[in-house]
Amino acid sequence: MGLNMIVAVKWVPNTQIVNIDPTTGTLIREGIPSIVNPHDLNAVELALRLKEKYGGTVTAISMAPPAARAGLEFIMGMGVDRAILITDKVFAGADTLATSYTLAKAIEKLKPYDLLIFGHETIDSSTAHIGAQVASWLKIPYIYYVIDTEYRDGYIFAKRRLEKKIEIYKLPIPCLIAVAMRSNEPRPIKLEYKLRVKLENPLEVWTNNELQLSRACIGLRGSPTRVEKAVPTPTIPRKKMKYEGQDVKEAVKWLVDKLLEEGLKII
Ligand SMILES: Cc1cc2nc3c(=O)[nH]c(=O)nc-3n(C[C@H](O)[C@H](O)[C@H](O)COP(=O)(O)OP(=O)(O)OC[C@H]3O[C@@H](n4cnc5c(N)ncnc54)[C@H](O)[C@@H]3O)c2cc1C
Repeated sequence: MGLNMIVAVKWVPNTQIVNIDPTTGTLIREGIPSIVNPHDLNAVELALRLKEKYGGTVTAISMAPPAARAGLEFIMGMGVDRAILITDKVFAGADTLATSYTLAKAIEKLKPYDLLIFGHETIDSSTAHIGAQVASWLKIPYIYYVIDTEYRDGYIFAKRRLEKKIEIYKLPIPCLIAVAMRSNEPRPIKLEYKLRVKLENPLEVWTNNELQLSRACIGLRGSPTRVEKAVPTPTIPRKKMKYEGQDVKEAVKWLVDKLLEEGLKII
């Protein structure tokens, strides 16, 4: 029978090169190339592995401006079967509440589904709210920090990594899991899948015409959160000290001494 899976993927500015506006404290997104949120590639990889093991389908959804098409084409190149871009000016300015509401309503239209797979967080806003909020809108179980998953007897067994232990949760389907970052190695894109994207153009675009959501619940109007103030974190100047010797034990002692001089407390 297999698993019908939906993976949520966000198109994010590459924060490794993004700058903060010193006046407003917000991200300067203009002119910054965007990428698929790296943690979401772990979610896609897990979905594809589950499909290989148990059969089923993998559908990707993303709420983003039209340029996110490139990101969805990329993950279809990894082997995702179907991709839906949710894009409309009326969704702009959404906080996490309005974003999760819009995603949940789009997911409802994709029923029946067994497993929703999200990244744990994004590299641009990184609230880690969306998975929990979508599960809450859909009234389905949710678990985060998942590193691997099995499917047996109609249940999802989600392996979860904590600091000092691994936990395994048994969840009834449908449920939502948020995948821990770097929990797997996302596969490269394959030429045959890339060709399918180019030749068949299988990407679907949904606007609010398809979703018919009330303007009061989406975009800026549906967003109760206001960013009151944002300041760039202070940069700490480096001391640029270097151990010049060769002996490893001596180097460790030198390092510990320096840290103690700087006020490190060993408890
Ligand atoms: C008042 C306010 C206004 C804002 N206005 C804007 C704006 O105009 N433009 C803008 O880009 N952002 C805006 N944001 C940020 C926006 O709310 C967040 O980018 C969005 O809600 C996702 O939150 P996150 O990135 O923290 O996701 P997280 O909760 O950290 O993400 C967890 C996982 O959820 C999934 N996910 C998250 N977002 C999406 C998505 N869009 N599509 C598919 N899957 C997703 C991914 O799997 C991701 O790994 C605004 C925020 C606030 C508070």
